[in-house]
Amino acid sequence: MAVDFSPEPVVADLAQRTAMFVRDVVIPIEERYQGVVRSEETRAALQREAKDAGVFAPHAGTEFGGHGLDMRGRAAVFEEAGYSLLGPLALNIAAPDEGNMHLLDAVANTSQKERYLRPLAAGEIRSCFAMTEPTPGAGSDPSALTTRAERVAGGWRIDGRKWFITGADGAGFTICMARTSGEPGDPGGATMFLVDAGTPGMTMIRHIDTLDESLFGGHIELLFDACVVPDDAVLGEVDEGFRYAQVRLGPARMTHCMRWLGIARRAQDVAVDRAGERRLFGSRQAELGMVQQMIADNEIDIAASRGLIMRACWELDDGHAAAQSTAIAKTFCAEAVWRVVDRSVQICGSLGISGDLPLSRFLREVRPFRIYDGPSEAHRWAIARRVVHRNDKANG
Ligand SMILES: Cc1cc2nc3c(=O)[nH]c(=O)nc-3n(C[C@H](O)[C@H](O)[C@H](O)COP(=O)(O)OP(=O)(O)OC[C@H]3O[C@@H](n4cnc5c(N)ncnc54)[C@H](O)[C@@H]3O)c2cc1C
Repeated sequence: MAVDFSPEPVVADLAQRTAMFVRDVVIPIEERYQGVVRSEETRAALQREAKDAGVFAPHAGTEFGGHGLDMRGRAAVFEEAGYSLLGPLALNIAAPDEGNMHLLDAVANTSQKERYLRPLAAGEIRSCFAMTEPTPGAGSDPSALTTRAERVAGGWRIDGRKWFITGADGAGFTICMARTSGEPGDPGGATMFLVDAGTPGMTMIRHIDTLDESLFGGHIELLFDACVVPDDAVLGEVDEGFRYAQVRLGPARMTHCMRWLGIARRAQDVAVDRAGERRLFGSRQAELGMVQQMIADNEIDIAASRGLIMRACWELDDGHAAAQSTAIAKTFCAEAVWRVVDRSVQICGSLGISGDLPLSRFLREVRPFRIYDGPSEAHRWAIARRVVHRNDKANG
């Protein structure tokens, strides 16, 4: 299959305008807040600026006010937005809202799209996606899902506990995965529910204190205790939740990779600037072989990540599930981005771990990516199983 990586002119133009917007408008705000914004006013102000610059919602359908980019188009634009920790928030392509928009677009009915997708795409509300549970519940293994939804008159009653739910504080609605049939360990039997903020029985227990801080709305522990939702809160079909989770997860993994690739590039730029200025042992630091090796390895990791993202996006745009290629790209990128930021810190010496440069913040922000959207080990396990299965099949 021939693969052409060059973006169409309209995408290249949007990517270039996004890069300028991030450089001129977003990075000064990121520097002021050291990458962590907590106020709705600042979020709204950033999004107003993105709308004025004509770069808002590149992923959303044109009928929802977006630019309607496919996955390959998103790769070019999201990487530019990701050059700042606040770029995705400004463009309304941050996690988990961007993945939820993709899910709603694919699965929601017309009235659910009007009620949830339209205001989400416009940045008027935020959302969250509640799957993970404390032990022994769902995590790397979603089939361990313990949260239950039972039929009651006119709707469903949800009971269970969720944690690490990004953006739940202040979200207008939650997409909650609950078991509607079977037992924990069964591969099917999950349903997705749209739960409005303020629904009695859904309570925020706490903000979990985590290494990373930049994703808006924090990481939240949520309790569902006799939380009753109407029948029309069901997203898609009953018992099809695990299938829809795959619809969300493949593309969402890739968009995470795209955004973090932007941060890897920024880290490399910071480190190369520094190595070009600093003099050590009678030469520029950038002329010392072991520093050159780190700069070259960063460049290789960035280029390889971009290539793997593009291959997976190509398959997704072609209508394939792309389970293997998204798993490969996600595993590689999550680890490559970490390596790039870590080497960049090393190149900058003590300055690298100080708050005078953004690198130590980047290091804290990228580390969890090796855990969420599937830990590296879970992906490697799944990749290997597919390879062995393919081999078994070939050998009859
Ligand atoms: C910053 C952050 C944000 C998050 N946001 C959300 C969110 O918005 N919504 C949501 O629902 N969840 C969210 N999560 C949760 C995330 O999806 C889970 O952390 C992830 O699925 C792993 O589950 P777990 O933490 O329960 O780890 P476990 O499932 O307990 O796994 C622990 C470790 O076991 C190892 N492991 C797992 N599988 C295998 C395997 N097959 N073979 C070998 N080793 C393996 C890995 O090293 C893994 O790290 C978030 C997590 C973080 C850290």
